[in-house]
Amino acid sequence: MEQNILTIFLALFALQFVIEFGLNELNLRQLAASTASKAIPEAFHGKIAPEDYAKSVEYTATNGGFHRWSEIYGSAILLVVLLSGLLGVVDQWASSSALSRYGQGIIFCGAVAAIFTLTGLPTELYSTFGIEAKFGFNKTTIGLYFTDKLKGLVLSLVIGVPFLLVVLCLMDIMGWSWWLWAFAFISVFQLLMIVIFPTLIAPWFNKFEPLKEGELRERILALAEQIGFQTSGIYSMDGSKRSAHSNAYFTGIGKAKRVVLFDTLIEQMTTTQGLAVLAHEMGHYKMKHILRMLLVQTAFLFGGLYILSLLVAYPPFFAAFGLAPSNHGALVLFTLVSGPFTFYLAPLMNRLSRKHEYEADRFAAITLRDGKPMEEALINLTVKNLSNLTPHPWYSAYHYSHPTSVERINAIRQVTATEQAVA
Ligand SMILES: [Zn+2]
Repeated sequence: MEQNILTIFLALFALQFVIEFGLNELNLRQLAASTASKAIPEAFHGKIAPEDYAKSVEYTATNGGFHRWSEIYGSAILLVVLLSGLLGVVDQWASSSALSRYGQGIIFCGAVAAIFTLTGLPTELYSTFGIEAKFGFNKTTIGLYFTDKLKGLVLSLVIGVPFLLVVLCLMDIMGWSWWLWAFAFISVFQLLMIVIFPTLIAPWFNKFEPLKEGELRERILALAEQIGFQTSGIYSMDGSKRSAHSNAYFTGIGKAKRVVLFDTLIEQMTTTQGLAVLAHEMGHYKMKHILRMLLVQTAFLFGGLYILSLLVAYPPFFAAFGLAPSNHGALVLFTLVSGPFTFYLAPLMNRLSRKHEYEADRFAAITLRDGKPMEEALINLTVKNLSNLTPHPWYSAYHYSHPTSVERINAIRQVTATEQAVA
């Protein structure tokens, strides 16, 4: 039986690898083809300098080329961990400690997490200090990089360990219905994190300040009033501490909701463009996008825990990967082998996310009674971030959580056209 499990896993793993690798190749080929034909999309005509376009092509090509190797490397590491019997060795080592059963389980999970964190360092370091630095984006120092890692470790200890302990206890004492209890617990925990993250955790990594006095602030306050958004939730963040990439996001629920504009974005945009970005973020709030995403994730969680409840009682699942049955072993194994199965959900989630982006863009265009500022903001963001102007449609459909700038600009123009027709 365990032989069958292993065969199914390896077949799906290979399929996932071929799809991911193939999509990246398609994307690189598309890039080469559009560069050769100098096919700059119409929306960007006269908006992007030839040297910026050339730089964006080089940036995309460099990242795509590196992705080939990081994909092979990451897959190899996962296979080695799963198939070499390493998990069994780590489990025996953890079980030999004098700790309680729960303590041993936590040690095991921590050791496996450490293996992936350490083996993931080379690709992460090269991406940050090699590629991002080469294109002038990286502002992180080695010191800051490792301080961030250390803070991440502290968070894992303070939040991750107690969380794991509760889940392991529920699995141990609740009998067959443990997964329903775990579902309730994790759902509440997720809600709590949505509140805690923007207010307590993110400020540990970045400085959040109310927007500075000035025209942008004045106009934002007026807009927020019009929309009915509490202005105490609008912040600027020192993103420039780590990277020159610019961004904005909406997060949190209830009183903890926030719109965050990176200082890099505020610096590079005109007041009108900045206002459009803010209107877009408030669109996410108005249309309850965070809540909708959360509901979908909760449904996935329910399904995932149910499947885990079946696997934990099925010894061949453990035997296939050289592990003795245990609750902590099931948690880790499930996390490691689920990739080739959940891989197909990612494009669906991205599709939903892209739908939300279109809705927020539409909201911004209608609220400002003009689509131009949002269009210009998008062009500005795309050019400054050296984003790929012409991704392969399959690649973007699969990987992009946001529609491409060209797709968004076309949609905004359509909104403007219909609105004018109605008026
Ligand atoms: Zn958005």
